[in-house]
Amino acid sequence: SQDEIKKTDGLDSQLEEMLLQESMSGIGMKLLVLSGKGGVGKSTVAAKLAVGLAGEGLKIGLLDIDLHGPSQPRLFGLEEHVLQGDENQLYPARVLPNLSLMSIGFLLPDQKDAVIWRGPRKHSMIRQFLSQVKWGKLDYLIVDSPPGTGDEPLSVAQMVGRPAGAVVVTTPQMLAVADVRRCLTFCRSVELPILGVVENMSGWTCPDCGREVAVFKQGGGEHLARENQLNFFGRIPLDLNIMLGGDQGRLHLSEDQTTRVAQSFQKMTRAVLDGFPNKKTRRSSMKIAVPLVQGELSQHFGHCDEFAISEVEQETGRIMNQSRLKPPGHEPGVLPRWLQEQGVKVIISGGMGQRAQELFTQAGIETVVGVSSGSTEELVTAYLQKTLQPGKNLCDH
Ligand code: ADP
Repeated sequence: SQDEIKKTDGLDSQLEEMLLQESMSGIGMKLLVLSGKGGVGKSTVAAKLAVGLAGEGLKIGLLDIDLHGPSQPRLFGLEEHVLQGDENQLYPARVLPNLSLMSIGFLLPDQKDAVIWRGPRKHSMIRQFLSQVKWGKLDYLIVDSPPGTGDEPLSVAQMVGRPAGAVVVTTPQMLAVADVRRCLTFCRSVELPILGVVENMSGWTCPDCGREVAVFKQGGGEHLARENQLNFFGRIPLDLNIMLGGDQGRLHLSEDQTTRVAQSFQKMTRAVLDGFPNKKTRRSSMKIAVPLVQGELSQHFGHCDEFAISEVEQETGRIMNQSRLKPPGHEPGVLPRWLQEQGVKVIISGGMGQRAQELFTQAGIETVVGVSSGSTEELVTAYLQKTLQPGKNLCDH
């Protein structure tokens, strides 16, 4: 009878509610990436934020629940990924060792499809999906939410639970458009704190003449943030490589960290971490590598026989632990990649060739070159106290 169906539905939803809470219980914070409408780069920003936070050594989950076009699998080259799990539990795909992804797209026979759940069942389908995902322990869950301010983002915002905050993505010319304002009103109505606003597709630099062109104007997001007393997380320029990187499924791979667009994403990541009300989960440690030859600082980086890796607490400068690691071969590019895999952020070295320095920079590792002597502890401490004096780069290879 209708009554019995209602009763069973009620029980199911209670059970799901419990499962949902359990599934979300190991997550430190949820960051909902929202936009007033589609096409502003919300998914791209969510993906880069997830990769950026993972690069900070945090454990990150990325949940793609954009029902209109789940695009995260494509951005990471996981369109052919076969979902692992059974009817009660679903396991996220691994993008990086500390970044896992669950996309509603993994449930679709063809990931190019839009999800066709409709009507009131949609809410319970979303809940069922969310309750089945096994995330394990996470520092942050980044949620690529459905665009707009309708029922779908509402369901998601309510179900992911708290603590949570919103990152609102807009394009610069949307200042006059009501969409973003609706998005802010939406956040307030669901009591979701707005962490800040990102202005995407903001300006384009001509590769030929270097002149910057404000394709979609500039400053709309910043103005909106100021007007509403919100944090501004910066402008992300229009950049062909971002579009291509997404199209070719390699947004998680390391890229040249010196470009304007890479730096604007770094700035956004730092701003998200800094602006966070709960800083407990913020990573405070960092790894610094020093190449050694027979236990001494190596003057010819490529000839070192081991690396001293120091893990330091950034706020206090305390060295938390130290280890010595034997590097793999010396072919160009091998060491930067290997050190990147070890989570190293800075390398302090005697001599180092120009090419090697470039490869490190591209791997997101800062190089301090031309240091003449000192024990690992002295060098690391001096680096942290900003008193390290790099001299002449003796490597002439
Ligand atoms: P949304 O999730 O808001 O619909 P997407 O992240 O899917 O938007 O982005 C829409 C398109 O714009 C994609 O092709 C994406 O690669 C591209 N795009 C997003 N941000 C940028 C940017 N800063 N520069 C160049 N292309 C971008």
